[in-house]
This record gives sequence, structure tokens and C-alpha cells, in this order.
Amino acid sequence: MERNVLPGYLTLHESGELAERAEAACELLGDCTVCPQHCHVDRIGGEHGFCRTGSRAMAASYGPHFGEEPPLVGRSGSGTIFFAGCNMRCEFCQNFEISQCRAGYEISSEELAGAMMRLQERGCHNINFVSPSHVVPQIITAVDRAASLGLAVPLVYNSGGYDEVDTLRLLDSVIDIYMPDAKYGRDDVALDLSHAPGYTGYMQAALKEMHRQVGDLVVDEDTIAIRGMIIRHLVLPENLANSEIVMRFIAEEISRDSYVNIMAQYRPAGRVTEEERSPMLTALQRPITGEEYRYAVRCARENRLHRGF
Ligand code: SF4
Repeated sequence: MERNVLPGYLTLHESGELAERAEAACELLGDCTVCPQHCHVDRIGGEHGFCRTGSRAMAASYGPHFGEEPPLVGRSGSGTIFFAGCNMRCEFCQNFEISQCRAGYEISSEELAGAMMRLQERGCHNINFVSPSHVVPQIITAVDRAASLGLAVPLVYNSGGYDEVDTLRLLDSVIDIYMPDAKYGRDDVALDLSHAPGYTGYMQAALKEMHRQVGDLVVDEDTIAIRGMIIRHLVLPENLANSEIVMRFIAEEISRDSYVNIMAQYRPAGRVTEEERSPMLTALQRPITGEEYRYAVRCARENRLHRGF
């Protein structure tokens, strides 16, 4: 499919609705329910909740990235902006210093808009917000600013899937491509390994809302993503991700045409490598086996999923 329409955020910007959405989103920061942790802290007044991020976003780095999925990378890379802090605490996080030790710097909405413009000028096919769930208000504010500066590439929302539906509704027609994780099939595992209460219900509701907004993945004549959803599923040792439950959910409640990246790159990292650990963390002390990966792929095929893996 050829790109023949401008990103929706430009239309919203021109009508003034994007500024209204930004204002509504920023109001959430005063009694924060931006994500499912529902901390109810006053981030505007200087309080911090689970994500340890205040009224300003924190960035760890930004630049063209060539390690993302091929439809995002193309020839010129995906313009990733890595946010510090996170609304989950995955014990095996490979970016532990960024997500949990907040290795980053405060960034204003103007600076964030400037970063987007520089990535577009470098030829990146999209702007890819990595770990955005706790900074949606700051992102909407910055996109409104960047739209007035000439931003025109698609926006990618690259989250852990632990997203609040009411917050996602503020992103309707702002985000072009959603790329959530579908990490777990069971809440007890999600709580132990990622400190995300009620993960499966929130993730499933979030993916349904994302899919309602953008549909299945659509690419242009150069196979670059224009719009739609890419779902990531990281295979864990001992099938701790419960891949059969996740694949059945995607097939039956999202779409059998979903683009699903079944990821094999799990390696022990973060707290998994510490001496004192729970039995579940002990199971995570090794990479996955070939059989464990093939099992996840088989689950996808048995549910007649067919794209992305
Ligand atoms: S965004 Fe941060 S402060 Fe707000 S509810 Fe989520 S974790 Fe808590």
C-alpha cells in the first residue's frame, strides 16, 4: 500500500484538538493514573510513584536504531527515543540501568520535539517511543510542538503492554503504529517477574484498544510500516511466558492477521544474576532452549497465526 495520507496527529494539531488532548493528559499527572499502577501521586507537585518520573520525562538516549523489526527499520533506521524509568520492573530487564536506576536526563517537551525533528532530518522512517507508558502526557505535548515544526513521519508506541485504556484513548489518531509486548499469560508470574499487578487483564484490554485504533500492520511498497500493530512475545525458560495462552488470545481476540514477533533472545540479566533470588528467578538463569522456542512458534501456528515469525 502506498502512503497517501498524512499522519493523524497533523490533522489533530491543525484543529487544535492535539493541544486539548495534551492538556487533558497533563491533568492526569496531578493524581497520577496514567498507567495501571494507579499510584495517585501528584507528579506536578514533585511526588514520584512507581515509575519514579516526575512532571518532566527522562530520556536515556535517542538515535537511529537498526535492531528493531524490519518493517520499522527499512534502509534508514527507526528513530528511537529511549525513556528512562518504567511502569514495570522486570527482574530480567536488559536495560536495568535505564528502566530501574533511571540512568537518563530530564527533557522538556520542547527538547523532546527537537529530538524528533533531528531524527526525521536524519532520514529515520518513524519516531519510536521506547518505554512510553508513564510519559504519555509529555509525549502528546511534545508531538503537538513537533507538528508545528514540520514533523510528518509515523509515530511508534513501543511499550510493555501494561497500558491504561483511558490513557491510550488520548493517543487515538496520534500513534500510527503500536508495538506492545504480550509478555505473560498468567498474573502470578507477571507479578513476581515484572511487578505488574493484573498484567494479563490490562494487557489484553490495551491490545484490543490499540488494534481498534490502528488495525493490523500495513506496509508501503518498500515494506516499511505505515500503520497498524506489531506484537512482541519474548519466550522465557520453562515456558514462564505461557505462550499457549498468549497466542490463543492474539488469534481469537485480536486478529489472526496480527504481526507477531516471537523473540528468542532471552538472556539472564538484571536481578536474575544476583545471588539471592526466588525459585522463579532461578529458572531464568539460562537462555531458552531450541525446543522452548519451537514450542512457542508451534502455539502460534496451531492458532493459525502466520505473520512476523
Ligand atoms: S505513570 Fe508512574 S506515577 Fe503514574 S500511575 Fe504509572 S507508575 Fe504510577
